[in-house]
Amino acid sequence: KPFVYTKNVETICPYCGVGCTINLKVMDNKITDVYSTEGNVNDNLLCVKGRFAHDFVSSEDRLTTPLIRKNGILEEASWDEAISLIAEKLKEAKADGPQAVAGLSSARCTNEDNYVFQKFMRVVGGTNNVDHCARLCHASTVAGLAQSFGSGAMTNSIEEIDIMDVMFVTGTNTTETHPVIGAKIKQRQQNGGALIVAEPRRIELAKYADVYLQIKPGTNVPLFNGMMRAILDAGLEDKAFIDKRTEGYEAFKEFMDTLTVEGCAEICGVDSEDIRKAAILFATKETGGIFYSMGVTQHKTGTDGVMSTANLAMLTGKIGREGCGVNPLRGQNNVQGACDMGALPGDLPGYQKTANPEVVEKFEKAWNAKIPDNLGKTVTEIIDGVGEEIIKFLYIMGENPVVSDPNTNHVRAALEKSNFLVVQDIFLTETTEFADVVLPAFVYAEKDGTFTNTERRIQLLRKAVEAPGISKNDWEIIGLIAKKMGVEGFDFTSDDEIMDEIASVTPSYAGVSLERLRNGDRIQWPCLSKDSEGARFLHAEKFTRGLGAFKIADYIPPEDQADEEYPLILMTGRILQHYHSRTMTMRTPGIQEIAGDAFVEINPMTAKAYGIEQGDFIKVTSPRGVVSAKARFNEGIMETNLFMPFHYGETGANYLTGGQLDPVAKIPPFKVVKAKICKE
Ligand code: SF4
Repeated sequence: KPFVYTKNVETICPYCGVGCTINLKVMDNKITDVYSTEGNVNDNLLCVKGRFAHDFVSSEDRLTTPLIRKNGILEEASWDEAISLIAEKLKEAKADGPQAVAGLSSARCTNEDNYVFQKFMRVVGGTNNVDHCARLCHASTVAGLAQSFGSGAMTNSIEEIDIMDVMFVTGTNTTETHPVIGAKIKQRQQNGGALIVAEPRRIELAKYADVYLQIKPGTNVPLFNGMMRAILDAGLEDKAFIDKRTEGYEAFKEFMDTLTVEGCAEICGVDSEDIRKAAILFATKETGGIFYSMGVTQHKTGTDGVMSTANLAMLTGKIGREGCGVNPLRGQNNVQGACDMGALPGDLPGYQKTANPEVVEKFEKAWNAKIPDNLGKTVTEIIDGVGEEIIKFLYIMGENPVVSDPNTNHVRAALEKSNFLVVQDIFLTETTEFADVVLPAFVYAEKDGTFTNTERRIQLLRKAVEAPGISKNDWEIIGLIAKKMGVEGFDFTSDDEIMDEIASVTPSYAGVSLERLRNGDRIQWPCLSKDSEGARFLHAEKFTRGLGAFKIADYIPPEDQADEEYPLILMTGRILQHYHSRTMTMRTPGIQEIAGDAFVEINPMTAKAYGIEQGDFIKVTSPRGVVSAKARFNEGIMETNLFMPFHYGETGANYLTGGQLDPVAKIPPFKVVKAKICKE
């Protein structure tokens, strides 16, 4: 008997920011297979997560009903009971002012969910204390590129990789974290594109590189400065572009004149000739793009690192043109969209500032409500505020800060003290251990709406299956709480309606509608009108801020330095098979099997010095915590370094991380952690 699917639904992969289009084969309300399609970005490619990791949708662990904690135990409750309790507690907290209420929105939820969430926090919660996990990954991109260019997003498009003469990949293990982009970079290299890779670990792309620079962790800024010094020494700067399109060059040049390539190379721990080779290769090609991710952003100098990428692009005139650009690779499926939608403390949708009275007036009119004037707190400040018992009501939608935030012991201690915590999610997580109320939400395959991928492309989700139990769409749940609080403006009945409201208040989304996407329109913001497809690349005629701004970024050493007690430097990151805190990927047995248990990557020579064999358990200690995981040998990691993936809650690398935040973006440093080890 032939196998007949009852449905075949085209939607968007729920994992990384590449935003591949997938085809879900559905049988009896269950996803049985996933196929690739040409899509807007993936050309029929999918990675192992997108292709296989969908069992979580029908997992028996799914939350199916609201839960309320009674006598320390989460018990099933009705929606009415849960919503009434939340409204009562929110009213109590609001009496203490805007700093007593906070919310964490989600880079895994749709644009529509994020828009409604931040509107709820501002209009119903009366606070600007709303943020999401972009704070932990690309806040420095948003802050840095906004200063340099006026817009904090990937400037060019994924399809332009095919025409890049040179690709400079740094601070990203692209084949693991953005596999389809990694595959395209490899393809381009095989077809004649030059490749420069700068990474402390010898990643897969290093094998294909014309120049590979194994820099010490935390030395991005001197690497960029060294390359720019080499370009200036060779007279290869693009004088016409600098004169016509930029400002601040004289002061920048004066600063650069204080540096030498050799001095920068020494800080980075690489040969100065290799820096020169990379610089000249980048500068002499007609087109070229810079790709980076959290190896650049997750430092106390993350914003400086990002502005340095912008300096390099402007110095060589490789910005505002096809096949060029500064291309931050956003991690989660909708982290770009969550930022665009204003799930940020200082930004309303479309990066319109809460500090701008004209913006506030516009939104007050549109929403018929007062916009709060408190200085909103960021993710880590919100967790601190809960621990200090200043924040009395915390609403977390689709985030798991116990695993994803730095310094897990600190996060756990803070949440232990929480006065009232609501968690809206699809599974019980490490964070729901602390929740007073848990609300069951839909997953991507159960809803319509949009995600915005790393290249600013707004893409359509289509509902494929019915959700389990009495769970609800995220924005619908938020609307119920607003209604209980007696606040109007949240009675949306469809994602179309929400996107129409987004378009009416957000200039960069003004031309977006779900109807256009259903009709097959391809849209990348800024999309200013209904007859526009938006922009394939940004800053063509002029930068968003007018002139591009050169910014001086000098080397500031990381806070953590190896010393006698902690002689090694640990880096944290991601692996191909797992996504974020694994709530979804660990529920696909095949994926879990390939990925294996948590591990500590160590150079075999270092392991030998400690008497450690492959597979032995290693105890890793930093000033903030202790974890234990299996040794995995890697000759491509420096003898002074270790690497751990952050996904694993029980042996989480984030027990070890923490430290000084970037002063501008307030991003924590996840990439340079001093540590000591011993065999268990
Ligand atoms: Fe999904 Fe990213 Fe893999 Fe594409 S590359 S299938 S979007 S996880």
